Amino acid sequence: MTDAGQRCGHVAIVGRPNVGKSTLLNRLVGARISITSAKAQTTRHRITGILTRGDTQILFVDTPGFQTLHRSRLNTRMNAAVTQSLAGIDAVVVVIEAGRTVEADRAVVRLLPAGARVVAALNKLDRLRDRDALLPQMAELAGLFPFAAIVPISAEKDRGLVALVEEIRKLLPTGRHAHDEDEITDRDERFLAAEFVREKIFRLLGEELPYASAVAIDRFVHEGAVRRIHATVYVDRENQRAILLGAGGAKMKEIASSARTDMERLFGGPVFLEVWVRVKRGWADDDAQLSRLGY
Ligand code: GDP
Repeated sequence: MTDAGQRCGHVAIVGRPNVGKSTLLNRLVGARISITSAKAQTTRHRITGILTRGDTQILFVDTPGFQTLHRSRLNTRMNAAVTQSLAGIDAVVVVIEAGRTVEADRAVVRLLPAGARVVAALNKLDRLRDRDALLPQMAELAGLFPFAAIVPISAEKDRGLVALVEEIRKLLPTGRHAHDEDEITDRDERFLAAEFVREKIFRLLGEELPYASAVAIDRFVHEGAVRRIHATVYVDRENQRAILLGAGGAKMKEIASSARTDMERLFGGPVFLEVWVRVKRGWADDDAQLSRLGY
């Protein structure tokens, strides 16, 4: 067998919250979410899904924190990490809602380093009532960044995805596939556990709080098939703790339960998850603390 004509590269899916990035990734790679240590120099670990289709292998890379700009020290670090992580990326997919570009989308586009090879995916096409809205949107986007392509898709309804993959393929270097088609590793489940809790906080509480919080995994043990995980969420102020907990702890329960569901799916077994919330003033500006938490 020859490697001639094979293409392989790292691709980041970015975009503001709720545009459908996870849906798209899941649709493209299915349940075969793999975790690899593809590039060691990144400051944040990354969850990567692998899509192998014909001669093409796409290694999807997650870049949490890309979607928002914040002023605190933490976020300066995160944005720097994002830019740094994109340095090893061959192509970027920016997901934007079809027919509706908002300021947060423009902010994401502005973060793209000049010279990046980027495809814009206009998602939720199935929801768009007025198809005429697409053309002016595409024209505006083309003015903001020299996208390699702009592709309308529906991640949920599986529309436009073949075209999207084809556009991504064109941006990838030729080279051997880096992974076997069915390769799955379980490297750093601890980190992923923290990442899932962080993601749920982000998802369920909007944009501000997550960056005022950090998640540490205090305990991660296997008991037979069960993974027993104790996590602590650190926040800066008492009122943030109250927001996280919600009335009678309901919000935290929702966050933990949702994170647990994702963990069980990814880890492939039952998870017992306990999450505590602690106030620790100034943690976001404390370098030592950030390093301990893996930022
Ligand atoms: P993320 O925050 O960017 O990862 O967004 P998600 O993948 O979690 O999607 C946010 C919401 O949009 C979810 O409720 C999805 O079901 C929904 N969604 C994603 N893709 C589509 C789509 O193509 N069409 C429609 N109608 N909804 C979608």
